[in-house]
Amino acid sequence: MLEADVAVVGGGPAGAAAAITLARAGRDVVVVDRARFPRDKCCGDGLTAGALRQLEHLGLRPDVVASWRTVDDVWVRSPSGRTACFPMPRDNGVFAAVATRADLDAALLDVARAAGAKVHDGHRLGAARQVDGHVELDVDGLGTVRTPYAVGADGMWSPLRKVLGADQAGYLGEWHAFRQYFRGVGPMATDIWVWFEPDLLPGYAWSFPLPNGRANVGFGIQRSSGMPIARMKDIWPELLQRPHVREVLGPDASSEAPHRAWPIPARVDRARLYSGRALFAGDAAAAADPMTGEGIAQALVTGRLAAAAINGAGPRLPARAADIYERTVRAALVADHRMSALLGRALEHRKGARAAVRIACATAWTRRNFARWLFEDYPRAVLVTPRRWRRGMLTGAGAYART
Ligand SMILES: Cc1cc2nc3c(=O)[nH]c(=O)nc-3n(C[C@H](O)[C@H](O)[C@H](O)COP(=O)(O)OP(=O)(O)OC[C@H]3O[C@@H](n4cnc5c(N)ncnc54)[C@H](O)[C@@H]3O)c2cc1C
Repeated sequence: MLEADVAVVGGGPAGAAAAITLARAGRDVVVVDRARFPRDKCCGDGLTAGALRQLEHLGLRPDVVASWRTVDDVWVRSPSGRTACFPMPRDNGVFAAVATRADLDAALLDVARAAGAKVHDGHRLGAARQVDGHVELDVDGLGTVRTPYAVGADGMWSPLRKVLGADQAGYLGEWHAFRQYFRGVGPMATDIWVWFEPDLLPGYAWSFPLPNGRANVGFGIQRSSGMPIARMKDIWPELLQRPHVREVLGPDASSEAPHRAWPIPARVDRARLYSGRALFAGDAAAAADPMTGEGIAQALVTGRLAAAAINGAGPRLPARAADIYERTVRAALVADHRMSALLGRALEHRKGARAAVRIACATAWTRRNFARWLFEDYPRAVLVTPRRWRRGMLTGAGAYART
């Protein structure tokens, strides 16, 4: 039997952030992931300023991530066809970047290893139970792992949540999203593109740039839109043929591999965040942004908060750890979640999406700040949460400004 202070199930951003934080606090941490890294994760690969600040804090260096690309300009096309460029601030740190999840997640797990976490990739959690003040995990190829706490950072379908009986039957996530890699894309595809297509609202399509003429292209819809998920497969080839999408990808673009699709859970305000001595983080806590479906920043934040709660409570007070975790997650994410959900409703209709782009384009100031707000440089609900107002909040440097 393997013993440790904490077992982290899942080595994605949530699990790595938890493991790094725990290991740096001197905890003996074991990470198990069923995949061998580097592994692909169906994702748009977009890193918001919020995610970048978390990555910087955790000690991830962009230069070790081969597919890292910093982005300066974001283009948005409204449902009426109006196209606008939203520039990110220049020469003052990084506000938006793209990196394949295969590269990013492997690099982040390396940071966890360097911090002292014992990473066992290629080992799947099969079963788990809570006994005698411990969590016992049955892990393929490792046997039983016995720890005072477990962090469930095992994604949308969280097997840990399921085997502990904390799952909500029939839950399928708020978003469903497609993604495909392209090579040979044209020069327009070196920026970020977001297309608000009338038939996808409040969802959208995107092209996110990668180095060497590659791009991550995809689209997401909200389940509440009523569009049957099965229709997404039919829409995809047709969407790629739309003239404005073809124009951006260029005449030589070709797909690298079949598309992949995956749900995105975005209801942290109602999600169950713990079960006894297990705390759930990232997609396992349904932490993604309900307006955009972005979840890397939220995974990193909840992973760190789960670690801080365990560190704060110590091994003998699981109820206290759960209480700290729930309070800190709610304080960090719920106001922004509600604001995003509200704004997402405005995007359900063409008029709302058109108005949003028009307001965002009104002046150079609104353009600049819309881009920063969209990319989570400051919290979504910052205007209605004075407790978070700081001097220089709307003018600060991006991530990695000192390096
Ligand atoms: C198409 C699409 C596009 C997206 N685009 C973006 C974007 O551009 N930007 C953004 O910020 N977010 C985006 N997201 C959301 C983002 O991908 C997720 O929110 C994020 O990956 C959540 O991270 P996580 O660490 O919680 O989970 P994951 O990254 O899913 O990691 C979970 C880990 O758990 C492991 N695991 C699962 N089961 C077991 C088991 N039984 N035993 C052991 N390990 C197990 C998995 O192998 C995996 O490595 C997108 C999502 C989709 C579907």
